[in-house]
Amino acid sequence: MDYRITVIPGDGIGPEIITEARKVLDAVGKKYGHGFKYTEVLMGGVSIDKTGVPLTEEALQTAKNSDAVLLGAVGGDVGQTNWYSLPPHLRPEAGLLAIRKGLNLFANIRPAVLFDELRGACPLKDEIIGDGFDFVVMRELTGGLYFGKRWTKEVDGLRTATDTLVYSEAEIERIARRAFDIARKRRKKVCSVDKANVLDSSRLWRQVTKVVAKAYPDVELTHMLVDNCAMQVVRDPGQFDVILTENMFGDILSDEASMVTGSIGMLASASLGETKLGLYEPSHGSAPDIAGQNKANPIATILSTAMMLRYSFDLDMEADKVEGAVKEVLRKGFRTIDIMSPGKTLVGTDKMGDLIALEIRRNEYGNDNDAEDSSCPHRT
Ligand code: NAD
Repeated sequence: MDYRITVIPGDGIGPEIITEARKVLDAVGKKYGHGFKYTEVLMGGVSIDKTGVPLTEEALQTAKNSDAVLLGAVGGDVGQTNWYSLPPHLRPEAGLLAIRKGLNLFANIRPAVLFDELRGACPLKDEIIGDGFDFVVMRELTGGLYFGKRWTKEVDGLRTATDTLVYSEAEIERIARRAFDIARKRRKKVCSVDKANVLDSSRLWRQVTKVVAKAYPDVELTHMLVDNCAMQVVRDPGQFDVILTENMFGDILSDEASMVTGSIGMLASASLGETKLGLYEPSHGSAPDIAGQNKANPIATILSTAMMLRYSFDLDMEADKVEGAVKEVLRKGFRTIDIMSPGKTLVGTDKMGDLIALEIRRNEYGNDNDAEDSSCPHRT
């Protein structure tokens, strides 16, 4: 089958990591007989330089007309570019907000996976890591405290600030459904996180998730207060499969979850809406300090393509293959500089992509399916 992918390389290391992600997707396409048709569009600083705006209407329309969007990263070094002397709505990062809004993406998923080979990078004790952990934080992205009305005014002679936290049952229901759908593709457990002992919005959140759960009898639903969840993520992360939560709690918990996995270069993410069309990107930024030096770790972007295969195209087996190939390359000891440790083999961005693509093309008997990678160091 053919899939239309809008590709946004962006700025900094964006073009380098996107090249490697495409290599891996092409290997998947070749091995499993899928056609991935790429249309590149500009976003961020490169778009500002060429068009004057961080995202043109035409670029957004291309994204809307595709089956999935793959993004590198946008932005630059504040001291080194003119982009940050522009008004906020014309700066590179405004492109991100515009595309998320334009595609109506209300659910953000960030996986927290500990690769056994990178246990050393995990700040948790060995007895807490146990057999490792593999969970996702699903965060509501367009409602709650960050989008509520807010004001500051004088009350009884004191400046007083107010922020409002609003959720309708429709907003809760649509993200809860998404969380249960994702859980069905994983270990079938949803832990809904709230502050129902204090907040009305959380009590509604809990009621609605319970109703949604009735349509998913094969998925276990539990509830946890957010303060307890913050502790549990560092006390026993292995207990979680899908953590479902509102915008601000998700903002904090997803950052906490990403820290327990180790390197920023390994963290994928997906943003989803009502339809299958999703936006897939690494959690890190454009890393201008290492751009153009073949030093960037492309694995976060490559793992984002695995999420694309799973959630936008329902190609679960192919997604497993990509994740398995990443694990295998790490097991063989190859590392980019950010995850390097003594005794391992240092490789650049391009070689890491080559190795993972080669691993995908390898068949079950350990042989490479085609001959073009004879330069690879561990070709059998
Ligand atoms: P950053 O994530 O770009 O970099 C933080 C540190 O991590 C740097 O030392 C960088 O070299 C390193 N790093 C990041 N990704 C890496 C990778 N794949 N491999 C190896 N090392 C990696 O964050 P920052 O420096 O705060 O931001 C730089 C620019 O990126 C800013 O303009 C910021 O606004 C932008 N940004 C964009 C996004 C996005 O596009 N979604 C997200 C965050 C930041």
